[in-house]
Amino acid sequence: MGLMEGKKGIIFGVANERSIAWACAKELIQGGGEVAFTYQNEIFEKRVRPLAESVKAKIVEPCDVNKDEQVEAVFKKVGDGFQGLDFMIHSIAFADKNDLSGRYIDTSREGFLKAMEVSVYSLTLLCRYAEPLMKGRNGSIVTLTYYGSEKVIYNYNVMGVAKAGLEASVRYLASDMGQGGTRVNAISAGPIRTLAASGISGLRTILELCSEKSPLKRSIAAEEVGKTALYLCSNLSSGVTGEIIYVDAGYNIMGV
Ligand code: NAD
Repeated sequence: MGLMEGKKGIIFGVANERSIAWACAKELIQGGGEVAFTYQNEIFEKRVRPLAESVKAKIVEPCDVNKDEQVEAVFKKVGDGFQGLDFMIHSIAFADKNDLSGRYIDTSREGFLKAMEVSVYSLTLLCRYAEPLMKGRNGSIVTLTYYGSEKVIYNYNVMGVAKAGLEASVRYLASDMGQGGTRVNAISAGPIRTLAASGISGLRTILELCSEKSPLKRSIAAEEVGKTALYLCSNLSSGVTGEIIYVDAGYNIMGV
């Protein structure tokens, strides 16, 4: 029997077949889980719907996390369709391209707030909707973060500050939701070439440095993040909550 047999969940953040969220979806489905998908808007729908259909997903809904009515509608759909929720993947982030190069100090008020709203507040919002559906089901919530939350990574800028907020949110949400048996964790993934990552100037250098400096002497594949998501969403990790788990070929442990 698969690790996810009988478990149902929702995945936010598939943009295309390179998305980390898609790698998570494949592992969770392979493990026997049933998945509902969301897409940000009609432009993304063209890519996401065929992927969702390829794995026979029954629920595929629009959800821009800045639109409360869409968030409410998608949880209503999932609540009715699944009669509860066992896992949720939050794999969403956004910052204006202008804010992902140059000096952090130049971040505008508008750019700062936009990055925080989409990349940090959305997790809190989605958890609030997920909470009643997950209560008493040993639910698991996983979000995606990056090392730029702890150390300065050139050009990552406002997104690094957002990821620090996201990681703190994970701990507060884990504390809030623990009574209902729900766990909240983050995966800190090493750099992977995706649509979102292509917005960061100097991605190639970051990838090269990762291969050079990490103990495993390579970068990581999205599938490796997917497998950790499978662990975190399954009962294998039943005692783990509020944690940031690194899937970065060990890069974060290295000093000189
Ligand atoms: P991606 O572009 O495939 O995914 C980003 C997703 O965010 C997209 O599906 C996009 O539609 C969604 N999104 C943005 N604004 C949204 C909104 N308003 N409403 C709903 N959805 C919205 O890129 P990815 O690299 O798979 O990114 C997924 C997550 O992984 C992000 O949180 C990212 O910061 C994190 N991450 C990525 C890397 C990397 O190197 N790729 C490393 C560590 C962490």
